[in-house]
Amino acid sequence: MRVRLSAVLALAAAALLLPALAHAANFDVNAATDAYLATVTGEAKAKSDAYFEGGYWLILWDALVAIAACLVLLFFRVSSGMRSLAERWARWRWLQTALYGAFFTITFAILSFPMTIYEGFYREHAYGLSNLSLPDWLAEHAKGLLISTIATFILLPLIYGAIRKFPRSWPFFATTIVAFFILLQVSIAPVFIEPLFNTYKPMDDGPLKESILSLARANGVPAGQVFQVDASRQSDRISANVSGFLGTTRIALNDNLLRRGTPAEIKAVMGHEMGHFVLNHIVKIVIYMSLVFGVGFLFAQWGFGVLHGAFGGMWGVRDIGDQAGLPIIIILFTIFSVLATPVQNSIIRENESQADIFGLNAVREPDAFATAILKLAQYRKLDPTPLEEIIFYDHPSGRTRVHMAMQWKAEHLNDLAPDDPAGGPAAVTPPESDEPVPQGPDPDAAPVP
Ligand SMILES: [Zn+2]
Repeated sequence: MRVRLSAVLALAAAALLLPALAHAANFDVNAATDAYLATVTGEAKAKSDAYFEGGYWLILWDALVAIAACLVLLFFRVSSGMRSLAERWARWRWLQTALYGAFFTITFAILSFPMTIYEGFYREHAYGLSNLSLPDWLAEHAKGLLISTIATFILLPLIYGAIRKFPRSWPFFATTIVAFFILLQVSIAPVFIEPLFNTYKPMDDGPLKESILSLARANGVPAGQVFQVDASRQSDRISANVSGFLGTTRIALNDNLLRRGTPAEIKAVMGHEMGHFVLNHIVKIVIYMSLVFGVGFLFAQWGFGVLHGAFGGMWGVRDIGDQAGLPIIIILFTIFSVLATPVQNSIIRENESQADIFGLNAVREPDAFATAILKLAQYRKLDPTPLEEIIFYDHPSGRTRVHMAMQWKAEHLNDLAPDDPAGGPAAVTPPESDEPVPQGPDPDAAPVP
């Protein structure tokens, strides 16, 4: 009986699969992927490869600049001087620590400013990736610095409170504090911080907005409005997000995506962003990243003992509970962070990959997803080696993402719209149209009578 049943099941499965296999055999996933990648060539490809590969070295140079700035603050006793100043100004220890935190953030920003302006302004302009004038860039930088000064003012007394109260087990408490702080930051940033840099306004009504809201409803994203951000102020980069929770959920997309994307591409990108929301990626990333931070704090605890034992007297740092030792902790954390780059990137990349497949399943536009990915190739190298991708990529590479889309397409050739070319790579430029993407009849989408 059991044998017969499994034989029947196998036959039924074969009967179901055969038409799909027949179609899939006509569609070469690798050739389709290659055909898409081959559309980005010559100077454009060389430029984006150079920009992205330069970013690998920036990880190292940024770390060296941060370490050098901290060593200056320690060896010239600026750090212990700022601690003593804070002690003269304030009576309470938490306020002394908070003031030191503000002093530190500002002096560190001054010392690393040459690198910051090279990386954030001159390098971006050299690659044609920034639309900001120097005064506007400086104004944004000043705003950002003010926000991080306030954040340090609040966060540092909490962490040092934990260090002083629990000299042995503080890495655990510091990790918990940082995790809550990151969660708070990512949940309030879209509502309170990002509007300080850009203007958010409701997207113009129309079929495109309606199809985005429909996609949201179909996938359990409780957002009633789509916002449009004037990101073209800063650059031409395409971006969107779905953020918030507990009633603050909102969908935002930037004007670059609206200007540069076809309706199908815009939906493909929004499907990806909704994937992050539905799959709870913020909470997952905060949990995973906190574990990485926890290891970093343990490393800092160990390393502090070593460095303080050797140089503490020279630097005027009393003990680990003395905030003047913050640069020591930053040095150790920076070293750890460089070493942990592949781990951190892989955590994020894995989530991005999940959002990609969610978006493909939700929107069912593999070709539009592929062409949208190619538009990101302006600042992301498309075709890295596998090792390069593991170490340096916080999103799957263009090749990986286009390949995923073509694999999805190969497995759905039967149920895609009949005008889709059945074999070989699809036309690389999808039809330009202002109409929303036609939706196949979907019984679940029928309005409730
Ligand atoms: Zn994403």
